[in-house]
Amino acid sequence: MWKDVYTDFMDLPKHEQQKLFNLLKEDFFSNEDTDMSDAYTSIREMRFNEGLGCVHCGSVKVKRNGKYRDRQRYLCRDCGKSFNDLTNTPISGTRYLGKWSTFFHLMVEGYTLPRIAERLEIHLSTAFYWRHKVLFALRSLGFQTLKGIVESDETFFKESLKGREVVDRKPKKRGGRDKKRGISNLKIAVVVAQDRNGQVIARKTGTGRVRAEEIDAVIGDYIDQSSLLCTDTATNYKKFALIKNLKHETINLSKEGYVKKGIYHLQHVNSYHKRLKDWMQRFQGVATKYLDNYLYWFYVLQQSKKMTTKQRVNQMLLSACQKSNPITVNSLRKF
Ligand SMILES: [Zn+2]
Repeated sequence: MWKDVYTDFMDLPKHEQQKLFNLLKEDFFSNEDTDMSDAYTSIREMRFNEGLGCVHCGSVKVKRNGKYRDRQRYLCRDCGKSFNDLTNTPISGTRYLGKWSTFFHLMVEGYTLPRIAERLEIHLSTAFYWRHKVLFALRSLGFQTLKGIVESDETFFKESLKGREVVDRKPKKRGGRDKKRGISNLKIAVVVAQDRNGQVIARKTGTGRVRAEEIDAVIGDYIDQSSLLCTDTATNYKKFALIKNLKHETINLSKEGYVKKGIYHLQHVNSYHKRLKDWMQRFQGVATKYLDNYLYWFYVLQQSKKMTTKQRVNQMLLSACQKSNPITVNSLRKF
């Protein structure tokens, strides 16, 4: 029986033998887990920092229930489901656990998908799936509330309908005539707000001119009532300030120059726009439906830019595992 498989194995070309061997090796000896073993403890302590609770229903009637592959399992007495320290995190149930620490490193470095796939020797669609599992999990943490002087302005990205081709294994063949399909002429507005403590919100709104209600929908919940809004003279922001009953300074960029009364300006937010656009360049246009994921990714990198790389990697890993986020390939496909 095994001899037949071995004969088949020997018939494979060398590089395929190598791939199969590596896969078997990972299945047998999860030595690559060593990088992650410290992370386990940190993840467990962070997730259950208020005590052990069921990741499915929240019940505290949880008992330890043996180990599977050296990992502690738990059983919930209320919902009857079991879980481990990684259940409902982006790194649960993965075959290649040891690759995740490298993956987070590459996320901090802002690698593109082809480079991640090559470096980790994983399929492009796996790299895509990992990236967005992590980004959705990170986004579940939301934004901090902005206080004091809050600069806000929008910037625009080309709308793009692409992004499916990486997930769907067989992309439809496209004729030359259809080459432009996927990018429309519409622009997606991204509203960025930033306070003087460096807290930022960056989220996409609709296409074209942004309405006050749309601004409210994306940043309204994150602006402290005592804040002073600082924007250009566009009417959408005037209306937004009225809706939220916020103090408001408008900067007429053409008339008064860039700084009003020595303190009111939009330089921080405009500099954020520029850095964001420079950073996004490498992805050569991202699908509009995933734009918020990229905006949050950049936000996380900006918030941690004064840390060492090791700290940033560790923080991104822990943040991605902080909340219970059941994200599957199917839920990503439907998104
Ligand atoms: Zn439960």
